[in-house]
Formats: sequence, structure tokens, C-alpha cells
Amino acid sequence: MSNPDKNVSRRAVVKGVLGGAALVAAPKVADAFPSLGKTIKWKMVTTWPKNFPGLGAGANYLAKLINEMSGGRIKVKVYGAKELVGAFEVFDAVSRGTAQMGHGAAYYWKGKHPATQFFAAVPFGLTAQEMNGWLYHGGGMALWKELYDRFDLIPTAIGNTGVQMGGWFNRKIDAVTDLKGLKMRIPGLGGEVLNRAGGTPVSLPGGEIFPALQSGSIDATEWVGPYNDLAFGLYKAAKFYYYPGWHEPGTTLEGIINKTAFNALPKDLQSIVIAACRVANQDMLSDFTARNNTALDTLVNHHGVKLLRFPDDVLKRIKMLSNEVVAEIAGQDPFSKRVYDSFSTFRKQAISWHAVSEQAYMDARTL
Ligand code: CA
Repeated sequence: MSNPDKNVSRRAVVKGVLGGAALVAAPKVADAFPSLGKTIKWKMVTTWPKNFPGLGAGANYLAKLINEMSGGRIKVKVYGAKELVGAFEVFDAVSRGTAQMGHGAAYYWKGKHPATQFFAAVPFGLTAQEMNGWLYHGGGMALWKELYDRFDLIPTAIGNTGVQMGGWFNRKIDAVTDLKGLKMRIPGLGGEVLNRAGGTPVSLPGGEIFPALQSGSIDATEWVGPYNDLAFGLYKAAKFYYYPGWHEPGTTLEGIINKTAFNALPKDLQSIVIAACRVANQDMLSDFTARNNTALDTLVNHHGVKLLRFPDDVLKRIKMLSNEVVAEIAGQDPFSKRVYDSFSTFRKQAISWHAVSEQAYMDARTL
């Protein structure tokens, strides 16, 4: 509206092209500024099944945001796992430019570099709030960018599950000895911790968890939290639902952008892509927070799930083992050591601060 003359002339052009047809509504930005060229088409490959609750939905939301915020100048098409590339080929596909964006989690890429795990989740690590603090204002993002630069990638955070649940068990865990021989679906560093506690970690994709738990081929499984666990029907296969999810206290989901494709964008579109990732990052945590609340209520009050806290002795033991496992990553190479030092310093300070803020308040709230 700031330049009425411009609007008039644009209408005249539209009218002329259409041969006197009625005025068309709101021309797109790209139409109004032909010098900006044609629509930029990006592909976003993901590690999730298409439209998967929470995670796949987060990818769809991010694509929609970029499309809308750019006024249609960038169109991002989302591909579920296996539609364009397999789930664990996402990193390489974006790195070589087969797709311009990827949506997944950094701990899937530990084979590329062990330090990637710090940018997703580590046992007894940071909560969602703390992860965002470390990444955006505590030095974490600069390290993440430095790590991915060698792959021609720009990393971003695009969601967080919040504290996950400890998992579904078909027998009670009363003592550390109950972990011995326990066959549990638990991936990554958490699995290594269980291994050191005498259990047997099993790696299974999401779709195979329920039948494995129901048939007794595994004794326990972790997945995400009430929202996703309810959707999988895990309460039908195991009786005891343990907390807290010590192994994934605030898992950050990852967006990766091909750096060459990003640098080819005009500055305003670069800002739009980055800002859309920040919005999607916050939105996923809000989604999980709201839906976990209602799903937990459904599980406990409608399905009779037995909600149990891991005993202190068990938590103390696995915390000790977790500290060992995480510290060993730092010993693998100098860059991992830098990330570990930054992460650990932030974690130490966050523990002190949150003892007198979040934690103290939550304790007071339930007195
Ligand atoms: Ca999990």
C-alpha cells in the first residue's frame, strides 16, 4: 500500500495480459518482482516415515513455513524416508546436493564424526531449554557449524522432544541387578550404558518395536514419550512405564542445509530459511509438551498403565556409567574434546542455575 502508483501499474499489466478479464487477487511477490527470477525448488529429505506424528509433522510444518514466509519464492517439497533416499542416507544426500535440506537427528551421523552426538542427545545431558541455550547463546551452534562445514552443510535445530520417558518394561526394575540380562530396544549412547550395566541393547526401527515387545523377543523398549508411545500402542505390550528418560533428556532434531544452495539464495531468503527453522524448533517442543500432557493422562487413567520411577540406586549407577561413556567420546579426537568441554561447562553451570530456578520451582509447586 505504500506505493499506490505501483499497484495501479501492476493491475494494468495483469489486466492487459488477461485481455481485460476481472482483477485477480493479490499477485505473488515473485510476479510483482520479475527480476527475482523463477521459483526456487528445494527438496527436503527426512529420516522419518512421511507424516509421522511429531517428527514428520515437524518437517511438513517447516516446509510450509518456508513456502509461506518467502511468498512462494522457495517451494520446499518434503520426502519421507525411502521416497528419495533411505533414512540413513539423508546426510550424504544433502552434503552432495541431491537434496537441499534434510530433517533428522545428529546422533545418526556418529559414523561421520563422534562429536555429532552432542548436538542431539547424550545421557544425563541437557534439557530442551538448556540445549537451546547452549546452541544459540552458549557456543554450541558455532561448534556445530564448524563440524559440518567440511561436509558443505549448515546445521540448524528444528525441534526438540523434551525429556523422553525411560521406557516400557514387562518386569519391574527394583535394583541395579535387574538390568542384568535385560534385552531392551535402546539405541545410541543409552544402549552402550545399558550394555555396561549388564543388559543387552537392541536396535530396532520404530515399526518393529511393538511386535518384538508383544512376542517377548525383547523385555523392554524406549521410544519417545506419552504422545508417540500412545500412538504406537506400546501399553498393550508391556505393563510398566518407567521415568525419567535419562538417556534422552531433551533430544534436538536437526535440520541440515546444503551450504552451496544456501549461499546461492538472496540475503532475505537466507534469513527466512534460518528464521523458519527457529520457529519450527520452538513449535515442535510446544507440540510435544501439549500432547504429552494429555497422552499421559489417557495412558494412566484410561489404559491403567503403571507409572514408575527408576529407583535412586539404579539412576546413580547408570549416571556413573553414562559419564564414562560420554567422556570417552572426548578422548577420540581434539575436536570432540572441544565440543565435550563446551558442553560439559555449560551443563555444570546449568545444573547450578536450574537447581535454584526450574528445579526449585517445580519442587515448590508440588509441595
Ligand atoms: Ca528415544
